[in-house]
Amino acid sequence: MRILQESGWLTLSESIFQPSTIWLKAAPQDLYQYQLKNEKINTLVKSLQRMYQGISQYPVAVQLSQVMMTTSMSEASILQLLHFLDQSGVLDFRARKDKPQITFLIARQDPDHLTFDRDLLDFRKDRQSDRIAAIATYLQPGHCRQRSLLSYFGEDSDADCGLCDYCLSTKGISIDRPADTELEEQLASLFHKQEEWVPSDILRQFQPEQHLAIKRILQHWSHEGLMRESYGKLIRD
Ligand SMILES: [Zn+2]
Repeated sequence: MRILQESGWLTLSESIFQPSTIWLKAAPQDLYQYQLKNEKINTLVKSLQRMYQGISQYPVAVQLSQVMMTTSMSEASILQLLHFLDQSGVLDFRARKDKPQITFLIARQDPDHLTFDRDLLDFRKDRQSDRIAAIATYLQPGHCRQRSLLSYFGEDSDADCGLCDYCLSTKGISIDRPADTELEEQLASLFHKQEEWVPSDILRQFQPEQHLAIKRILQHWSHEGLMRESYGKLIRD
């Protein structure tokens, strides 16, 4: 869609609220024919004319809730009448919109005749694949994170940083994730308050997005022999 927009085929708008509009565009005598034929149409048209000045001259923003109150009709039957009258050419009805809108700038084209700036497309494609390759390198183990990051931004550095997790691991140092350390302390304090816990009760003390980390810590504890399970309850030794 963005490429279509940049190539001038259409415009995209952010989602904005556009109220329903009605324009009673038929000549008064034609409109009157419809009013004579159908009592509901009569009520609706009269109410619209009374409530919205200028509605016979130009499209006017209307609030269906107000029309519902004045006419004592349901929204469904008002909408049905409005669509019918719109199709009959008596009035022009545009239903409210609150979603992003697409406006076609050029008359409908056969897909075979859509033209694009090939160079621009290729340029973007290349840049995109360079970026994906850089991210892939960053995620791969065995690279200094800072060097990968710098090269992502087009800067080449000739030395490893010596501080990232990769560089530290080459020196035999592993770093704790700070968020996990904090969670581990919170978890330990739970076991200070109460000796035995049902796993689901533990999880209930934390946010859903922390559950995975909590499970990881509990698993780590039981691997390390810091915790045991008895009758479905966890006990920290
Ligand atoms: Zn590094």
